[in-house]
Amino acid sequence: MNLSLLASSIAESPTLRLNALAKSMLAQGAPVIHLGGGEPKNKAPQSAIAAAEAYLNTGDVKYTPSAGTLSLRKAVGDYTEANYGRKVAVENIIISAGAKQTLYNLLFTLVNPGDEVIVPAPYWVSYPEMVRMVGGVPVTVASGEETHVPRAEELLAAVTARTKAILINSPNNPSGAMYPAELVEEVVRFCERKGIWLIADDIYHKLVFDGKTAPNPLGFTDKDSESTHVIVINAVSKIYGMTGFRIGWAVAPKPIIAIMNNIQSATTSCNSGVLMAAAEGALKGPQEGVREMVSMLENNRNTMLKALAEIPGVHVVKPQGTFYCLPDFSLYQKDSLALCNFLLEKVFVVTVPGKEFGAEGRLRLSYCGSAEEVAEGVARIRWALDPSAPKEIRIGGKTAVRDW
Ligand code: PMP
Ligand code: GLU
Repeated sequence: MNLSLLASSIAESPTLRLNALAKSMLAQGAPVIHLGGGEPKNKAPQSAIAAAEAYLNTGDVKYTPSAGTLSLRKAVGDYTEANYGRKVAVENIIISAGAKQTLYNLLFTLVNPGDEVIVPAPYWVSYPEMVRMVGGVPVTVASGEETHVPRAEELLAAVTARTKAILINSPNNPSGAMYPAELVEEVVRFCERKGIWLIADDIYHKLVFDGKTAPNPLGFTDKDSESTHVIVINAVSKIYGMTGFRIGWAVAPKPIIAIMNNIQSATTSCNSGVLMAAAEGALKGPQEGVREMVSMLENNRNTMLKALAEIPGVHVVKPQGTFYCLPDFSLYQKDSLALCNFLLEKVFVVTVPGKEFGAEGRLRLSYCGSAEEVAEGVARIRWALDPSAPKEIRIGGKTAVRDW
């Protein structure tokens, strides 16, 4: 078939593929432990459900303004002021179908064919694909293996005359690393000086552990909302565990939002009013749920680290946020896809190959399930890999014998 070469070159999201696979294996009764997931197991906040219900009950569910309802954009403005110390106008805000579509529309708005977008590794799997989809060239920059944080001089040395943007995600999917404030500040100041866009994907900015807070990229700029080159992306997906509601946003100078609005109006028209009402409900409602989720995730992170420490030779950088970590399994298997398939087949544990995130030899393990699942999943991995572990274990009520 004579199809678009660019479109045909775009890979399926491996995280979503593995999510679907885990669900279908579970539905067929396989004793799956899902350490591949990218969504917390909480229920949506009551305030979100009540707001969506009230909207739905009006029966008046129609097209909405392309950039999002005024009331949700105002709520995002309030969120930005409360969390980033920045007063922004509604014209600085656009609502889209999750952080994913927001990012895509933003890259489409910024990038000309051949423009480079710098993406520090390890990176979220969809960034390079999205950059390529809009005709850009993703330029990855390796991070220190001991921290998963890029060095400022290496990051900035990757800048060329074609660099349009630097895309950072901290706290980071897949490593859980949080970039130090000094690094974020240096990159912000560099971008402001050079007129390069700094895209901060802040989708995990509230899911931070050990009483810390994530550095605020907007806090390091002296420029106002119109002349800054710092653009913040966020969503209700992770902070409130509302992945299925598909609501995210960008905060950017007005001309950028105006173009993103045109793109959205020409493609998806607008977001669902029901889902925007839910997002507004979450933003305006009680925030205890976020604190509870952080403490649950921090506890799970500790369980994960303790369980991983039981596997000889596996090193992991302690995550400071998110619900992921990126342990190094290269002592056992350097090919992370082969290891992921092996673990799925032998012990029904879903993981994501580090290769997908620019971190071959590692696996992304998520701890957004229950602490029991985390402990059991890692124990099964240990059993599968470690010849000194007992020859038999119980998996899903059956005795499994290691014969490899
Ligand atoms: N950015 C990062 C770093 C993510 O991990 C994800 C999803 N896990 C997204 C963006 C997309 O989020 P959403 O579900 O809001 O589209
Ligand atoms: N982003 C989440 C993850 O990394 C969910 C899947 C996706 O959006 O690709 O697992």
